[in-house]
Amino acid sequence: MASEEARRRYWAEQLEQGYDLVQEIQEFPVAECGENFASLKEAAATSGVEMRFSTSPIAGQMERVFWLRKSLVADVIAIAQDMNERGWILKIEDGYRSLSMQKRLGAKPEIFDAILKKCVWENGGALPSVEQMFRRGSVLVANVPKVGTHMSGTAIDISVFRASDGTEVWRGNSYLEMSERTPMRSPFIEPEALENRLAITAILESHGFMHFPFEFWHYNKDDALGHILTGNPAPARFGPVHWNANSNTVTPVENPGQPLRPLPEIEREIHEAIARAS
Ligand SMILES: [Zn+2]
Repeated sequence: MASEEARRRYWAEQLEQGYDLVQEIQEFPVAECGENFASLKEAAATSGVEMRFSTSPIAGQMERVFWLRKSLVADVIAIAQDMNERGWILKIEDGYRSLSMQKRLGAKPEIFDAILKKCVWENGGALPSVEQMFRRGSVLVANVPKVGTHMSGTAIDISVFRASDGTEVWRGNSYLEMSERTPMRSPFIEPEALENRLAITAILESHGFMHFPFEFWHYNKDDALGHILTGNPAPARFGPVHWNANSNTVTPVENPGQPLRPLPEIEREIHEAIARAS
């Protein structure tokens, strides 16, 4: 049984590495190719592959958008096909997020309270500084379009189930967990859960969908993060875009490095969260 201290140290190290990766994504070159979107649900129906899609609203109120860049949809269908062949069913938990969806997700008081709670735990009971909250928050909920790959239409959050009995291919926790068990290779999960995480990841990565090291459910492809994770220095072809669902056209986000919510606003929210806790 690992000590509380070891868990805290691991969590802090992972989140600091995550913060470094966030900086790296921000600086990475992107040459947006303008490719439009395709529907994952339609592609699944057409190909006859068995898939599931989340029915829960995002941040408790917004409908999820199961659309991705057109060329990536074929990869996801191939991934789902591979899973079917081994008796598994791919469930898409989340796909594209507009800037306003991401912004609303990050502004929820519940999110701030959850991050604050983890900071207090990390500090052995002491309230965090605004700086610490900001660093942790930047990794856990992207506040910059270029960093949050869901806004590029290149990312999926997933779970996996068994066709035979409908049970989840257990990864140690279900979708959306914020703890030292969340990083893909966390040493604090059961060996069987790690095996499942890595078996799932092998299928996704064989189709170019790379795993985000700090969340066991997130995979993305051909965006800035995808290039960093595969060691490809060429500019990425996909960056954050506004997607027009009526015309199915994309427009690059003008200032992809600009925070969705300005820093003073975040600072105020952090102060409010700390005040709620003290
Ligand atoms: Zn994600």
